Amino acid sequence: MIRIAVLPGDGIGPEVCSQAVKVLRHVCKGFSFTEAAVGGAALDSCGLPLPSETLKLCKESDSILLGAVGGPKWNAAPPHLRPEQAILQLRKELNIYANLRPIVSYPMSKDSSPLKPGIVEKGIDILIVRELNGGIYFGPKSRERTSTGYLASDTEIYSTDEIERIAHAAFGIAKKRTRKVTSVDKANVLESSRLWRETVEKISLQYPEIDLEHMYIDNCAMQLILNPSRFDVILTNNMFGDILSDEASVITGSIGMMPSASIGGQSFGLYEPIHGSAPDIAGQNKANPIAAILSAAMMLRLSFNMYREANAIENAVEKALNMGYRTSDIMSSGCKEVGTSEMGELIIAGISC
Ligand code: NAD
Repeated sequence: MIRIAVLPGDGIGPEVCSQAVKVLRHVCKGFSFTEAAVGGAALDSCGLPLPSETLKLCKESDSILLGAVGGPKWNAAPPHLRPEQAILQLRKELNIYANLRPIVSYPMSKDSSPLKPGIVEKGIDILIVRELNGGIYFGPKSRERTSTGYLASDTEIYSTDEIERIAHAAFGIAKKRTRKVTSVDKANVLESSRLWRETVEKISLQYPEIDLEHMYIDNCAMQLILNPSRFDVILTNNMFGDILSDEASVITGSIGMMPSASIGGQSFGLYEPIHGSAPDIAGQNKANPIAAILSAAMMLRLSFNMYREANAIENAVEKALNMGYRTSDIMSSGCKEVGTSEMGELIIAGISC
């Protein structure tokens, strides 16, 4: 039995997670699924965003499927008790340092993308490789009173080791794609970025077949809109990757379509849609479950080498879209609007493996 820890979380998390589990049950008979509370749901039930039982279950499982955490109900919680802390803590505890975010154009992308159809029609297939375990989200923070208000700081810290391991991850992945890596930093201003650039350059010598370019974050944000098809693998730090992947997600349609995998040294991984808990549509059967379902497909491919099953799920997603079915976030004229669970059923109906 392969053991999957399922952490549905808050808002639309449980709705999209249940569709992904349904799809996994359909394609893999040898999986067992155990649910545990995380985020706001865990704060409500036991006062902590990541209870020790949830962490124990994750450590004892072969892989983790997560929905989303957070919501207005917990916005006033102190920083260490916010639902989002659960995700940061999980990444640290499980030493998962590489976040892979594919940005792929689909049949409906030209209608639902805010970019001109001509730009999207060229085809977009980008993989953002984001460092996940360091940088400004984990560096020391402070806030102190001054005579006129407050002074607050967050610190961007990267070590050579942290940069080396994420660079190896990106170059290793690029070998199986078009062999092009764009490393994104702010080396004209930040010392941590200068170390990033030097280290990525040094590691690239071990991958002579890979074409490496460096780009400043501000230029990259612009190029993603002007000419997204120029990119293949984008390698970047924690915060730049967070921002760029949300930007990139909308150029192909909706954030509800974008899966992610967070992996460490071994095959172990945490798989989750990149979107949040979307409180504005929670509980209304409106959420697009495709990001969660594609995250499950990434799990099969990356954690369990189940390529045939992963491809079958991805093909079934494309089939449902080609048949004109859309959730409200990607709806366009002439298509048929369906809810979260109907989209899940349609994808299952289209799976052949
Ligand atoms: P969000 O991603 O939850 O929502 C942004 C917009 O996208 C909303 O209009 C929402 O309706 C829409 N959207 C998101 N997912 C969708 C889906 N699957 N189908 C259709 N529409 C979808 O971002 P937000 O509103 O900034 O954050 C809401 C909460 O989620 C906050 O508490 C935030 O901290 C949290 N959050 C959690 C994660 C995570 O769990 N990994 C990530 C981002 C934000």
